Amino acid sequence: MSKLDYTPTIGLEVHVELATKSKMFCGCKNAPHDSEPNQNVCPVCLAHPGTLPVPNQEAISFVLQFGEATRADHATFSEFDRKHYFYPDIPKAYQISQYAYPLLTGGMINGISITRVHLEEDTARNQHDKGNYSLVDFNRAGVPLMELVTEPVIHDAKTAGAFARELQLILRTLRIAEAQMERGEMRVEANVSVSADKNLGTKVEVKNLNSFRSVEAAIEYEILRQTTLLEAGGEVVQETRGWDEVKQRTYVQRSKETAKDYRYFPDPDIPKMDISREGTFSRVNERINNLPDKKRVKYSEIDLPIKQTEIIISSPDIDTFFAEFYQEASRIGRDKSFFQTAANYLTSDVLSHLASGASMGLSVEHYIELIDLVTEDKITSRVAKDVLAAVLVSNESPRAYAEGHSLLRSTDMASLGALVAEIMGENPQVVSEYRSGKLASLQFLIGQAMKKSRGTADPALLKEALLAGLDSK
Ligand SMILES: [Zn+2]
Repeated sequence: MSKLDYTPTIGLEVHVELATKSKMFCGCKNAPHDSEPNQNVCPVCLAHPGTLPVPNQEAISFVLQFGEATRADHATFSEFDRKHYFYPDIPKAYQISQYAYPLLTGGMINGISITRVHLEEDTARNQHDKGNYSLVDFNRAGVPLMELVTEPVIHDAKTAGAFARELQLILRTLRIAEAQMERGEMRVEANVSVSADKNLGTKVEVKNLNSFRSVEAAIEYEILRQTTLLEAGGEVVQETRGWDEVKQRTYVQRSKETAKDYRYFPDPDIPKMDISREGTFSRVNERINNLPDKKRVKYSEIDLPIKQTEIIISSPDIDTFFAEFYQEASRIGRDKSFFQTAANYLTSDVLSHLASGASMGLSVEHYIELIDLVTEDKITSRVAKDVLAAVLVSNESPRAYAEGHSLLRSTDMASLGALVAEIMGENPQVVSEYRSGKLASLQFLIGQAMKKSRGTADPALLKEALLAGLDSK
């Protein structure tokens, strides 16, 4: 049997740290990454006897917002359960999670069905790399964690990676999570199986995937490993495997527990939840309208290339700016080519400005003014870049800046003629070369004149003036 006869099937489990102000069941600051170890702790998240958990309403609201964005069904009744296991990072010896009644069921991202989404608490963080002992940092203990499980309906690594990227984009648009994978704010686990018939094969769970690239690489590796194993007459064992980033391979971690091993039961310390729709979504609708898919449709209507749209919506600063710009420029009736010009400068000059760590000081009004100067041919595209660089931080009026620095496009034939005479006087050798037939010299002279005019010379008129100058002896 050839490798092609096996169908891979992949389901994803994703844990996301929600960006709430406080932890899931206590008032401690939710800042697992920024602080000194064991600063954000209290008797509740340290599991002292006699303490009682109080659910964080903001975290529940965040999950329900996510449900709106993915068109999931949200529960009207829900509860928290205890999931039992012993490990130093879980001082209660159980984790508060949800079992029978998750907050959300169903929903879809990129056409991939979501089984369920529930809320739980993150564990503390163990450190084993300091010496002959281990350290535990409880800053992360009790941080709200949203767990999402997809249906096993993915059949290749690329699709799995695309799902994770889109999920991150949605979380960021809703502003419910930063979801930086390298910081562990979003952790993807992949359940991978291969099968030669219609039944699903034995699944292997792969953990420690800290980037979109490792999600894809680990899935590809597992598909190949399992297929090779089956072809050689072996059997896939149900187990949890880790991903070794250096060796680019998976390795056995432990055999997989089943739900039965965890002895789930409803947490008697936390009241059951009766979730009414009213009031929860008051500020959601505006962000829902701003979800990636909505923007893709909107920007395709102004004929932005899809690649450019993806650059815009995946950079939060550019995205917010362009959304505001789009609204205002549409209101005052600017056309498609105006938006395209604006998008070009945004995805090149502005993007690299921001990538260098600088901030965006330019207002939407002044950006419109700049693009007006370009599209009305008041400044050349070369000058536009200089003006943009100058006003990006200062938010000076681009028109005032261009006028103040004599940067408006020069279309006056008399002054262009004077410029040409000057350039020809400075480059007699090149001029005579041109006149003796070396036509390429023209480009050099245009370049010199353009430079002298600081980019303000109208390129077509300059060429015309130069040709006239060269032809008259
Ligand atoms: Zn606490």
